Amino acid sequence: MGTLATLCFPGPADPTVTEAVARTLRGLERRLTVNGPPSARAASQVEAINAAAGRAAVEVDPEVYGLVRTAVIASREHRDSFNALIGPVVKAWGIGFDGAHVPDDAAIAALLSLTDPEEVEMDDARSTVRLGRPGMRLDLGAIAKGYAADRAADVCREHGVEGGLIDLGGNVVAMGRSDVGVPWQVGIQSPFDVRGEVLGTVSAQDESVVTSGVYERVLEVGGKRYHHMIDPLTGRPFQTDLASVTVVAASSTKADLWATIAQAGGLDEGFRRVSEAYGVEAVFITHDGSIVATPGLEARLTLRSA
Ligand code: ADP
Ligand code: MG
Repeated sequence: MGTLATLCFPGPADPTVTEAVARTLRGLERRLTVNGPPSARAASQVEAINAAAGRAAVEVDPEVYGLVRTAVIASREHRDSFNALIGPVVKAWGIGFDGAHVPDDAAIAALLSLTDPEEVEMDDARSTVRLGRPGMRLDLGAIAKGYAADRAADVCREHGVEGGLIDLGGNVVAMGRSDVGVPWQVGIQSPFDVRGEVLGTVSAQDESVVTSGVYERVLEVGGKRYHHMIDPLTGRPFQTDLASVTVVAASSTKADLWATIAQAGGLDEGFRRVSEAYGVEAVFITHDGSIVATPGLEARLTLRSA
């Protein structure tokens, strides 16, 4: 998934747990990826759906089907911010991969016409997915790491791990309580500093904390910086007053989803949307350094004194 997974739990290291988690993560990566060289995508069920776009319905395993369904339904609901059908546009930009470049306006306009989430047919009984038109592409990149983090936590629990921290490239799952019996303190990465530099912490217990920032994967052309979260309305990276959004929710899938939804429209709009959503809280950090938390989080947020 192009990232590093870190597991942290008290007690002696247990390779059976880490190996089981690694197997689960690699299995998901193999089935879900739509990026990388053809060899990396050969076993991808999502890529099989994409390859059959405009033609056949493709049967995928029930787990993959469930995640695709979640992503497509969320895309229908939040289309101007989260749209898993944004694949053709993401591919054209290629941000984070070799050959990344700024596509021209005509190319973007043409590709945007291939991103309608209503043009996906899903059959729950048969676990099949059909993309309505050739050239359509599903891209689960904005939700897959969250889903994988949730599954990694399940595997840990199955192995008797009750408390621990899982970090999948900024998607953190806080399982249970810390080894000293209090909620975990999860750092909020500073969007302005090197990785590991935190602006503060949020306490979390059996919850996930996910950060999406405009600093994560970047293409620089002619002094301009383009990041990898695409505004589904314009086909270009979101350009708002936000540098990052950190979302807290019961599941990492949900937190990952909302970390993308909250990017649209900047601080005011993102704040409004998160406030109206059930079971989602967020901390917004703007380019000028303001830090704004939704009310449900304020008591759990500790900021490094500036
Ligand atoms: P990261 O944790 O890598 O920062 P995000 O959760 O922010 O990832 O998702 C970014 C990825 O999601 C992109 O690399 C792309 O594959 C896909 N994507 C980009 N823009 C959108 C969007 N508006 N809606 C859904 N998926 C998107
Ligand atoms: Mg996301």
